[in-house]
Formats: sequence, structure tokens, C-alpha cells
Amino acid sequence: MKTTYSSILARARALEQETIRILCDLVRTPSFSSKEKDVIQVIQKAMTAAGCDDVRIDELGSIVGRIGNGKRTIAFDAHVDTVYAGDLTQWAFDPFTPKVEGGKVWGRGTVDQKGGMASMLTAARIIKEMILATDVTVLFTGTVMEEDCDGLCWQHLISEDNVRPDLVVITEPTNMNVYRGHRGRMEIRVEVKGVSCHGSAPERGVNAVYKASRIALEIEKLNERLRQDPFLGKGSITVTEVLSSSPSLCAVPDAARLHLDRRLTDGETMDTALAEVRDAAQRANVPDALVSVLTYEEAAYTGKVYPTQKYYPTWTLPETSPHLQAAVETYLGLFGKPPLVDKWTFSTNGVAIAGKHGIPCLGLGPGNEVYAHAANEATPIEHLSGAAAFYAGLVGRFAGSVE
Ligand SMILES: [Zn+2]
Repeated sequence: MKTTYSSILARARALEQETIRILCDLVRTPSFSSKEKDVIQVIQKAMTAAGCDDVRIDELGSIVGRIGNGKRTIAFDAHVDTVYAGDLTQWAFDPFTPKVEGGKVWGRGTVDQKGGMASMLTAARIIKEMILATDVTVLFTGTVMEEDCDGLCWQHLISEDNVRPDLVVITEPTNMNVYRGHRGRMEIRVEVKGVSCHGSAPERGVNAVYKASRIALEIEKLNERLRQDPFLGKGSITVTEVLSSSPSLCAVPDAARLHLDRRLTDGETMDTALAEVRDAAQRANVPDALVSVLTYEEAAYTGKVYPTQKYYPTWTLPETSPHLQAAVETYLGLFGKPPLVDKWTFSTNGVAIAGKHGIPCLGLGPGNEVYAHAANEATPIEHLSGAAAFYAGLVGRFAGSVE
């Protein structure tokens, strides 16, 4: 006999106190990027308690729980790192002493995105209890370093550990809507050389700052020309830093560089974005400018260094995707109304999963993204149990064990 959506939702609501308890444990355990060791241990215990068949930690320090062992795989991803609390005077309470009040759980990471992890753990319990993972593999990933380098953890899981799900559900906050993509981004450096000479006779040298400045003004014009996508919005580029070097403050600078923040909309890639910047340098009459993508090479808490280019590709799941259809039908089955299908404003691990590796991704998560990285972060309890029901329901839909 198949399980019903209503029994899944009822079970998720009944487990609400347990989900809240897990979330409070996670908030109480600070886990800034590359410092996630303690929270991974908390999650390891919780995954085992939820009934995962197997729990392991990869070399970068991400944790992977598994239920079932079928040919097709569905994965649920939550990054476990959070940003710092920032100015404590802006918080009405201690960000790492969680509180439950007014139908919400409050604390750093409740929205971005320990709430998603807590809901995943309750979903795991329901999937195991109700035997929803019939002939499929379900993975629950608690991933590291997302706030510093989105997607790095999944590049590692896919390329080094051979994890290749058929569908990944991102549990970042969506305010309980279904999201199917977001803009990508990249960090670009432009370096120019000058010829230094005494500042008292600048005509003897070539001023690198003037060359960089001409390129910067072309970047401003380039931003105006970038394309607009009806779903994802406009691509953008801006200069975020200017640096120069000179033998002294009384000398013409011999080098200068610009740092560029590029947001990529649909159809824009690393190659097209670099070509545009090189073209801007041509237009500025600085054809010898060196244009490159920056590299991320910070160590994980495990000590592992896994360098990657700071290129985070755009991704969208097509509106016609059967996975999106399954998500919409699951939502409808659980909540009796269709979800709003939209996109994130910020970036997620989807840049690696879907953007670099082409694995279908979609997202639903508790909490409203406008409270991510903000003081007094809080997630509605109703979202926590709703998301848990959605994850379990989607597994049932994926496996054909629910109607
Ligand atoms: Zn996040």
C-alpha cells in the first residue's frame, strides 16, 4: 500500500518539536566557513539517530548520510557554515543562544541555512519510518565552505568522491517557494604595467594608473550594454577595488590592477565575460592588459586545500523539466495549492552541481532569504515542518512510494 501526502505532512507536523530541538543544537554550535568541525559532529549523531544507513565525511569535511540503495539517486543539500554575527549591538539576543518565540526559531543560521538541515534530518527520519526510499538512493549532504566559495564542496563530492545524483534539492531559504535557478558570478583581475620614473618629470614614464583608469571607465560603459534575461534579470559588472604600486609616492606607478565583480545572467559564461573585459581594454587603448580569473585556495577545517577558479556559473532548471513538475505536484499534494516557482537573488552550491556539472537542481527551503546574513535571523516553525514534509514527499514521488 502506498503512503499518502497527508500522512507525511501529519508526521512532519508531529515531529515539529524534534526538528526545533535539532535546529537549536545546530545554532548553539557555531560553524563559520572552514571552522565546521564541531557542527559536523552534531550532524553525524543526528543522521545516525534519524536512521541513515550510512554516514561518512569526505576529505574536505562535508558529511553525507545515505538511506536506501537503488540505482537512481536524489540528494538534499544544506551547507552547514554560516557567516559571522557581525555587530552584536544590532541583535536583540545572543545569536548563538537559540530561542523559540512567536512561532519562530531565532539565531544565527536559522535561515541560512541550518533550518534546511534540521528539516532534512526530520525528512530522513520520516523516509526511514515510512519506507519511502523504495529502490532509490537518498543522500543528505551537509556541506562546508559555501559562504566563502559556493560550490567548492560539491565539486569535491562530484569529482573526487564520484557522487552523481539524478536530482539535487538545495535547501537554502526560499520562503517555501520552489526555486529553479539564479545568476552566476565571477571575480576578475585586470593587471596593467607602466614605466616608472621620477614624479617630477612624468613625461619620461608611462603611468599605470591612467591605463587602469581608462579601462575602469570602459567597464562602466560595458555594464550598460550587458544583457537582460526575462527570468534571471540583468548581468552586471563593476570595479570593486583599484590597487597600484610605485617605487615611491614621488614616482610614476609601474603597475596597477582592477578587481571586478561580474554577475552572469543566462547565456553569459566565463569565456564571454573575459572576452568582454579584454575588449574593454582594447577600447581603452590598453591592449597589453592582463585579464584573469582569481583562484580560491583556502584550507578546509580538515586541512585539505582544493583550489578552484572563482567562476560560479549561472544555472536554471527548465520550466519543462519533469523534476520541476514532480516538485510542483508534491507541493500541491501536501499543501493543496501550487507553489510559486521563482529564483534566488543570491548564489548557492547549484553553481557547481547544475552550473558546472549539469546535474538537475531545484530548491525549497524554510525561511525568507531577506533575513539571510542579517541580525535577528529567524525561521517560522511551520516552514521547518513543511520543508521536512516536502523533502520526504518528493522522495516518495521520486520512488513511486506515495500517492
Ligand atoms: Zn546559504
